[in-house]
Amino acid sequence: MTTCAVKFCNSKMSLTKNISYFRFPSDPLRCKQCMEKCQTEHLLKTDATILYKNYRVCGFHFEDKMFLNPNSRNRLTMNAVPTIFSAGILMKREMEKKSEEEKEKKLEEEKQMREFEAQVAMASCSSPSHSLTYNDNVYTNVSDVSGSSSISSKLQVSTSDSSCQTPLYLTNKTPRKLKLYNELQSKNKEIKDMKKQINAITQQLANVNTV
Ligand SMILES: [Zn+2]
Repeated sequence: MTTCAVKFCNSKMSLTKNISYFRFPSDPLRCKQCMEKCQTEHLLKTDATILYKNYRVCGFHFEDKMFLNPNSRNRLTMNAVPTIFSAGILMKREMEKKSEEEKEKKLEEEKQMREFEAQVAMASCSSPSHSLTYNDNVYTNVSDVSGSSSISSKLQVSTSDSSCQTPLYLTNKTPRKLKLYNELQSKNKEIKDMKKQINAITQQLANVNTV
């Protein structure tokens, strides 16, 4: 059964008796132009013989001026290009475009998340001898206990890289991101608790030294 090749056009030859169906132009350049209009660029790779044999564009897509015989509408001019697409077709194109954009956005977000996770994983495995950067005032005093390697390595989880400091995209409230955000928060809390212990120990040491 021959159907119209135009994307989202449902015309079928058997159901549209008074409409003519036209082959794609044999001239490669015109064929390309035509396919762009029909959104059938994927057919450009199709073998010319198969294209000629199996694919048609229905007469609904051509303006009167594209016909040599506007009354019977079964002979196209040399330069005829399909330009008429129903509201339904245009709407479906628009919807498809939007869903593709959303898909791309999602992929981009997932990519960012993977990069973030990799950074977190790398930070928690990295050697404690790496220099620590404290962008948050909460941690500024911790650096004077750099002798404690186990603590330093834990601190790196959330402070070693500025991009780990609650990046903007964490504010998007997807469950996965919230989970990671909560993990980050609990690590920060751990760090605060450790800092308290360190201060207490430092105080004790100071007392011992003065005695
Ligand atoms: Zn059609």
